[in-house]
Amino acid sequence: MSDGQTPKVLDDARSRLEFIYKRLDASADAQQRLSHPQRVIEAAIPVRMDDGSLQVFQAWRVQYDMTRGPGKGGIRFHPDVDAEEVTALSFWMAIKCAVVNLPYGGAKGGVRVDPKKLSRMELERLSRGYIRAMYDVIGPDTDIPAPDVNTNPTIMGWMADEYSNIARGQYPAVITGKPLGLGGSQGRVASTGEGALQVLKIWTDRNDLDPKKMTVAVQGFGNAGYYFACAAMNLGFKVVAVSDSKGAVYSEKGLDIHAIWKHKHKTKELKGIVYSEESVEQEKNVDHLDNDELLKLDVDVLALAALENQITQDNAQDVEAKLLLEIANGPVTSKADTILADRGIPVLPDVLVNTGGVIVSYYEWIQNRTGDYWTEDKVSERMRERIQHEADRCFKLAEDEGISVRNAAYMQGIRRITEAMDDRGTQG
Ligand code: GLU
Repeated sequence: MSDGQTPKVLDDARSRLEFIYKRLDASADAQQRLSHPQRVIEAAIPVRMDDGSLQVFQAWRVQYDMTRGPGKGGIRFHPDVDAEEVTALSFWMAIKCAVVNLPYGGAKGGVRVDPKKLSRMELERLSRGYIRAMYDVIGPDTDIPAPDVNTNPTIMGWMADEYSNIARGQYPAVITGKPLGLGGSQGRVASTGEGALQVLKIWTDRNDLDPKKMTVAVQGFGNAGYYFACAAMNLGFKVVAVSDSKGAVYSEKGLDIHAIWKHKHKTKELKGIVYSEESVEQEKNVDHLDNDELLKLDVDVLALAALENQITQDNAQDVEAKLLLEIANGPVTSKADTILADRGIPVLPDVLVNTGGVIVSYYEWIQNRTGDYWTEDKVSERMRERIQHEADRCFKLAEDEGISVRNAAYMQGIRRITEAMDDRGTQG
């Protein structure tokens, strides 16, 4: 959606704070501190390519605020990553960890790379290079990375291994989202999507809506989008459309999400999808849409699980969905928020909706530090309890104060951060 009009993601992210500060009567000291990232680290990572040439990749780790605990946040591999985006993402991490009351600050990492163009060995060398570059600033008690867009448990495994090699010891708690055999947690892979579904369910229950009568379109068919779509389907929602960066598929009757996932993994894209044998019947009903069309579908829920700045002032007017669910970080700009609010379309915000991932990351970190590994049931029960409690608080605050759920979630998070800042006292 880049159109020259789209605001800088960081300015846009921070612009939402003015309203919150006023409502909270936040101290001037805390406001000042939250207007700058605590630390921005930039590195150049040299990688020996398979053909013998050398390529240097730009990389960042931004620690936005560590008042409530060590930094926490994923590492994104994407050709458009830059310092500004990583800073915005680290800011959102600080808020979301506080919204669900995790004892963490907010951080984020990024590498400017198109991982689809790298071989597996090149990707491993790059991932290990990232850890060598950032070794001094990360650690189980300082800053704990995790997966994000285009990174996964395999990459986290290489990174955790590299850290342990340099440290000459076993430090699984330095990174979360690892493979199970390296101290990963049960349930981590599906957690973002499942947590998002849970927030949606709490909303539908509060508003007396029946999932079995509701349609859903999902923008983005990565890890979060896929597990969300599966969980939504299991609860009776009809998932009528999904998209990846190249296009969307639509079926009025509902899609077979598992068959689409299989296809996507085989061919790497949704374009040209052919259903598996079991789903031949569906094939007749599948339409191909472009991505903009998916955003305009007349559905009950539009779940945004791709990237930032997808709904802007340019297309917010065209949204026909009755509810927006932000599974990605920052998919709706603040101007679009205002347009949607005027049109009476509620938005369930990223800093609440996508917290399932970081919550289970927290549980993984606890398990690594205690050596006591939990069953999948225990992980998901504890995640559900936390989301239920914190989402209920946000929804209630929104109702009591007559404000949007986003503003309520920000109030809940910023209040916890600014109180912690004031409790720590002034430094210097
Ligand atoms: N990348 C995820 C997020 O944006 C997870 C972060 C984590 O587990 O630390 O929330």
